[in-house]
Amino acid sequence: MRYAILSDIHGNLEALRAVLADAGDRADAFLCLGDVVGYGADPGPCVDLVAERCAAVVAGNHERAVAGLMALDRFNPAARAAAEWTRERLHPDAAAWLAALPLVREVADATLVHASPSQPDEWDYLIFPEDGFAVFGAFATRACFVGHSHVPRAWAQGSWGHDHEPMPSAVTFEAGCRYVVNVGSVGQPRDHDPRAAYAVWDLEARRLEIRRVPYDVAAARAKIVEAGLPRFLAERLAAGR
Ligand code: ZN
Repeated sequence: MRYAILSDIHGNLEALRAVLADAGDRADAFLCLGDVVGYGADPGPCVDLVAERCAAVVAGNHERAVAGLMALDRFNPAARAAAEWTRERLHPDAAAWLAALPLVREVADATLVHASPSQPDEWDYLIFPEDGFAVFGAFATRACFVGHSHVPRAWAQGSWGHDHEPMPSAVTFEAGCRYVVNVGSVGQPRDHDPRAAYAVWDLEARRLEIRRVPYDVAAARAKIVEAGLPRFLAERLAAGR
């Protein structure tokens, strides 16, 4: 069994389509770690595709905000403007689907959560080595897959102690070890690589690969500008930050 794991799509239909095409013959099923909407100009089509294609989906903070389940005062001005824009345009059925998403799911021997397995509704960022090391007690499975920071990362815990890899291209799951992996962002990468990021998790091979996929950044940017969303949201796609 091979799962493609997608996170932080953020209404970027061009990036999502490119990732689905790339994963076509590499994955048997799809999982999503949340933030399907927010920032990008195509929240509705992205929700439709994720709902249709993904076997398990958890809620991100942008889902909670757009669904009215989280106060927007925790967002920066651009995120808040995008959340309000999205809320006004999303079909009620799509909004209801977002509102019903769980915060945590388990698939095979992995926990899926958007931000952190420790207090998932606090939306803590796992960025530094110690951030990841601190949450191994907060999930029971062998692996935990997260998004939220939009930067691929891997943390490992074994009898020998802890390890952290800042920009992994692949993670091999060793016997007796546990892992926290950030799979990166499909629709708004922030690691200075503008290509869409997602992961392919091969259960039999005990391996996870972080893939990078070029997509039509110019088209996604133009739609954001045309939609009247903050220009910064368009500009950052080209820089991948
Ligand atoms: Zn996000």
